Amino acid sequence: MKTFDYWKDKAAGLSFRTQAFVNGKFVDALSGKTFANVNPATAQIFNNVAECDKEDVDIAVKAARNAFEDGRWSNMHPAERGRHLMRLADLILEHKEELALLESLDMGKPVSDAMSIDIPGSARCIHWYGEAADKLMDEIAPTDPGALAMVTREALGVIGVVVPWNFPLLMACWKIGPALAAGNSIVLKPAEQSPLSMLRLAELASEAGIPDGVLNVIPGFGETAGQALGLHMDVDMIAFTGSTQVGKFFMQYSGQSNLKRVSLECGGKSPHIIMRDCPDLDKAAEAAASAIFFNQGEVCTAGSRLLVDRAVKDEFMDKLMKAGLQHTVGDPLDPATTMGALVEEHHMNRVLGFVDKANEEGASLKLGGSRSAGREGFFVDPTIFDDVTPDMTIAREEIFGPVLSVLTFDSEDEAVRIANDTIYGLAAAVWSRDISQAHRMARAVRAGTVWVNCWDPTGDMTIPFGGFKQSGFGRDKSLHALEKYTDLKTTWVQL
Ligand code: NAP
Ligand code: MG
Repeated sequence: MKTFDYWKDKAAGLSFRTQAFVNGKFVDALSGKTFANVNPATAQIFNNVAECDKEDVDIAVKAARNAFEDGRWSNMHPAERGRHLMRLADLILEHKEELALLESLDMGKPVSDAMSIDIPGSARCIHWYGEAADKLMDEIAPTDPGALAMVTREALGVIGVVVPWNFPLLMACWKIGPALAAGNSIVLKPAEQSPLSMLRLAELASEAGIPDGVLNVIPGFGETAGQALGLHMDVDMIAFTGSTQVGKFFMQYSGQSNLKRVSLECGGKSPHIIMRDCPDLDKAAEAAASAIFFNQGEVCTAGSRLLVDRAVKDEFMDKLMKAGLQHTVGDPLDPATTMGALVEEHHMNRVLGFVDKANEEGASLKLGGSRSAGREGFFVDPTIFDDVTPDMTIAREEIFGPVLSVLTFDSEDEAVRIANDTIYGLAAAVWSRDISQAHRMARAVRAGTVWVNCWDPTGDMTIPFGGFKQSGFGRDKSLHALEKYTDLKTTWVQL
């Protein structure tokens, strides 16, 4: 394993791409404006990034449209598109340390997590869709023999991609992989807190032979560049990952403009249910702690509501507290660190606001509950509240930080009722050795993914990912993700 000093030296020697990437070139924003990029672990500005606005979006969309219309990518042999994507995946791995550092410096996550999860996951995703590019067949409909009806999938055109800061590159790759494999062009707006890895990726895409104009990246703010992309009359689809609130804005933008398709991966308040016949309470307690403290709790599928059967509650809480203490805040560049900084000061204060609210509303603080002492950056200690009831604010709102709510139940029905008492439906887990009960509950819980006797064990690309209810619609990952970047065409030939 590389040492803390190794990463500090490497970080000190990094260079940053801070301009927009449009039509194969790095360019300043037309206005010349930039915004300060802060390292959340130090609270210091470490570079300034091009602040794109509506005019920059117009230029990027034009470049993407031209690339789509002249067929330089959309009409390339699918196998060749696939080869370029697989080359890009290889380049991601060749630049793994650099990209992992960019993620860590930009948004505060431990560099060791970026090395083991974000960057290999991004490469795996791009490679997977590269392989899939020439593996999908279209259909011939079973019509009357006097006709030949072909049902084919066609790329949509220009896709606007808008992503959050918690897994900056990985969330982007979940969109870019299938959208590019299908032959579309892209204009991507990273979150203002985390533009660096995506700007570097665009350069690597160029090196991998993805033609100019096919993948454009415009850093900037949501209210300006993001909105301009959402309202653009020549963008065919928005693929969005972020909060439910902003997801709703994109639905409005679509209605106010050209009825562009919208896919939304939004927030969550995922229930993690421990039944009395949980097969392994130690393992479940470790999973429950990781489910909320991994990535500082800044995870859409965070297991933020832990529902524990009263029959095993006391025993489980002891194990949970022990597991929680294994998660410690530290410098993100220290390979021993398991929890880094929260993304920005405003977000840290928001998370601490939920802690105050929980105290006011009568939940019992069992662990953490404050900003980490002795650090300049935006660190919050791993926090556990017991005696949380379903009506409390921390049981209802997405906190997006390291704050766990523990609720207690007495029956399967009650567990399901509490689990479903939320506007969200992204993920859930049930721990039970009773196979009938596990299946019954997996069916009854309204969520896009239900894990049984585990919590999010792999980054497997073969399964669709996304939400029910206000967690959004449309799926990332798996072959299903390709569906939303294409449209069906029927060609009816009378014989
Ligand atoms: P966010 O505030 O919704 O921002 C997401 C993206 O939307 C950013 O690029 C942001 O730009 C942009 N944006 C903000 N306001 C906008 C507006 N008025 N018009 C157009 N675009 C706008 O979310 P976040 O704080 O970055 O990320 C946290 C959220 O993402 C959580 O709710 C989490 O659950 C969700 N998430 C979901 C998934 C999933 O797969 N379901 C995965 C990861 C995260 P700026 O940042 O530049 O303002
Ligand atoms: Mg930053």
